[in-house]
Amino acid sequence: MAGDLHTHTYFSDGSYSPEMLVAEAKKIGLHYLGITDHDTVDGVRHLYENGLYSVRGVNIVPGVELSANHPDRDIHIVGYNIDIYNEALLEMIDKITEARWERFSEIIKILQIKKYNIREADVLKIAGTTRSVGRAHIARTLVKLGAFKSVREAFEKMLGKGTPAYVPRYLPEVDEVIDVIHQAGGKAVLAHPKLVGDDDLVEELCKKIDGLEVYYPCHRPEDTQNYYLLAKKYDLLITGGSDFHGTSSRFVKELGEFTISDTLAEKFYVAPPDLNL
Ligand SMILES: [Zn+2]
Ligand SMILES: [Zn+2]
Repeated sequence: MAGDLHTHTYFSDGSYSPEMLVAEAKKIGLHYLGITDHDTVDGVRHLYENGLYSVRGVNIVPGVELSANHPDRDIHIVGYNIDIYNEALLEMIDKITEARWERFSEIIKILQIKKYNIREADVLKIAGTTRSVGRAHIARTLVKLGAFKSVREAFEKMLGKGTPAYVPRYLPEVDEVIDVIHQAGGKAVLAHPKLVGDDDLVEELCKKIDGLEVYYPCHRPEDTQNYYLLAKKYDLLITGGSDFHGTSSRFVKELGEFTISDTLAEKFYVAPPDLNL
């Protein structure tokens, strides 16, 4: 009797296909599954357009995780129950995707100058289906090539903010992200507030968003308590999820390791759209 509202497929930087993810959710008895890829709705679209969306027992919540601009903090906002065909949303995603590809080429060039034997093709082989190519794919490739021991090390030494191959990219402003999620009929939720690293900023953001990801694997009990109270103070929806990425995930190895109650998850569920595509 549980749900997980934060997961990634291989359409962004996860390692599962959407159908594998849904099948796994069904196998372990999850009632609610949020699919929240970074900067893409291709995973949800894939389920819609291949007749894989309606699965007995698993209620799928369509989502997207968008990064918003900030000079030194990572702000991730998840849009839940968005219309994945909304024009404004798709326009923003296209702009972000284009910027991601530009940045991808720039990072590879810097790595080559720094004598890493890496080519764009090596990363694309690992990235597979995604249109949302990112640093995680580059990091995995560097690990595979033996340049670093782990993805974490690759980020700490070469790809993270403030390191030699870090290249900033275009990110929409917080207000633009929230606005586009609303235009697409969705609810805007601030993801993993602890990872923002600045609780004053989190409180400012609470004045604009619809929900807060109170339950998250790296939150300590006191963090969860604080964010719960904050969500209550601003009358926000309370959500949670594992941020499951598949085998190379950051916080959980298996789907179902970290879940929230149905009572919380069901607030995000709306009946599937008319899929006569
Ligand atoms: Zn995130
Ligand atoms: Zn995520």
